[in-house]
Amino acid sequence: MSDSDRTVLAGLQSIRSDLEDLYKDLRRNPELGLREHRTAKRASAALRGFGYEVTGGIGGTGVIGVLANGEGPVVMVRADMDALPVREQTALPYAYTLTVTGEDGTEQPVMHACGHDVHVACLIGCARLMAQAKDAWRGTFVALFQPSKENGDGAHAMINDGLTSKTPRPDVVLAQHVLPYPAGYVGTRCGPFLPAADSLRITVHGRGVHGSMPQAAVDPVVMAAMIVVRLQTIVSRELAATTPAVVTVGSIHAGTGPNVIPDSAVIQLNVRTYDDASRTHVLNAIERIVKAECEASRSPKAPRIEKITSFPPTVNEEAPTRRVAKAFAAHFGDDAHTIDLQTASEDMSEIPKAFGAPFTYWGIGGIDPGLYAQAAENGRIAQDIPVNHSPTFAPVTQPTLDTGVSALTVAALAWLGT
Ligand code: ZN
Ligand code: ZN
Repeated sequence: MSDSDRTVLAGLQSIRSDLEDLYKDLRRNPELGLREHRTAKRASAALRGFGYEVTGGIGGTGVIGVLANGEGPVVMVRADMDALPVREQTALPYAYTLTVTGEDGTEQPVMHACGHDVHVACLIGCARLMAQAKDAWRGTFVALFQPSKENGDGAHAMINDGLTSKTPRPDVVLAQHVLPYPAGYVGTRCGPFLPAADSLRITVHGRGVHGSMPQAAVDPVVMAAMIVVRLQTIVSRELAATTPAVVTVGSIHAGTGPNVIPDSAVIQLNVRTYDDASRTHVLNAIERIVKAECEASRSPKAPRIEKITSFPPTVNEEAPTRRVAKAFAAHFGDDAHTIDLQTASEDMSEIPKAFGAPFTYWGIGGIDPGLYAQAAENGRIAQDIPVNHSPTFAPVTQPTLDTGVSALTVAALAWLGT
C-alpha cells in the first residue's frame, strides 16, 4: 500500500457509520431511470459540503463534482444512480415496498435490485476521503453520478447535454459494479469484460386473408418462423467457435385467431457480443437474413427493423487496467482477483469515449462471505446466491462498502497519489 493510500484511507473509519446510513437511506428511496431527483440532490449536497464545485441537472439528473487540487492528472470516477421496476422481496428493515406511478400511468414497484445504491454510497465516501486528505495527492478528482444506466440512455443523456464542456478532460475514467461475489472481493479484467447488448423489434409484412386461402396470402407467420430458425445460424455458422455471442428471440407475435392469416408479424430479439467486429457482423447478418427471408416469401413491403435499446461492449484497456490491478494487489492482497467475463451490459464506456479518454471498469463482491462459502461448498452458487436484478439481491453493508470505497480511492490514487 502506498503512503497516499494509507493517508487517504485513514479517514475511512470515521466516515463508516455515515456511509452505512447513507446506503440504507438510498436503498429505502430507490428511483427509476431519469427520475433520480432525490438521489442526485443527496449527491450534490454531499459534494458541496466536501468543497467540490458541483454541476447538477446534466442530462436530466446527472451530477458532476470537481475537486481541483493543484497540477496533476484528472481522474473521473463514475457511479450510476438508477433503480429497477422490481418488487423487493427481502426482509430488510430498509427495504422499499411501495410503488410509484410509471410513465405510462401504471403503478410500478421500484427496487435497488442492481446495487447502484452501493455505487452511489461508495463514490460519495471516496469523494469525502479525497477532500479530507488533499495533502496526500495532487491533480483533479471528478465524481460523476450518472442517471438511467438500466435503460442504456443515461450516459448519452449527459453527453448530449454538454458533459464534455462542463468538466476538465479526464486522463482516465474509473467505475465499478457490485456483483454476486463474496463481499471483500475485487476483480479486474483486461480486454472484453461486458458484452454489447442490442435489442431489436422487427416487423415483417404479409398479405392477410381467410385461413382457407393460402394462394391469396403472403403468410407472415411462416415468414417469421423461417426468420427465427435462420437467425440461429448466425452464431453457430458465421462466428468462430472462440467468439462468444448470443442471439435470443424473446418475443414473437402475429395473428388473432386460427382461421385468419394476419398481415404482419413482430419479432423482438436481443443480441450480446463482446467486441465491435462481432457486433457489427451479427447486426448486419440479422438485417441480411430478415430482408432475404422477406424477399423469399414474396413480402409486399420491406421489413421494419427498429433498435429498442443499445449498450456498447465494455472492453477494458490494458494499461489502466494493469495499473489498477497492481494497486489492488498491493492494497487488497488475496482479495484481488481476475474476474470472469460477465453477461450483463453497461453504457459507462460512452463517457470516456466522449472525452477520448482511457478507462477501466471492475467488479466488487456484495454477498455475505459466509453464505457464499456455504453455497460454494454445497455446489449451489447458482441456486442460493441472489444475483443482480433479482428481488432478493441485497449487498451486505460490510465489508461491501469498505471495499467499494477503498477500491475507488486506491484506483484514483494510482494516478493522483504523490
Ligand atoms: Zn442492472
Ligand atoms: Zn447495474
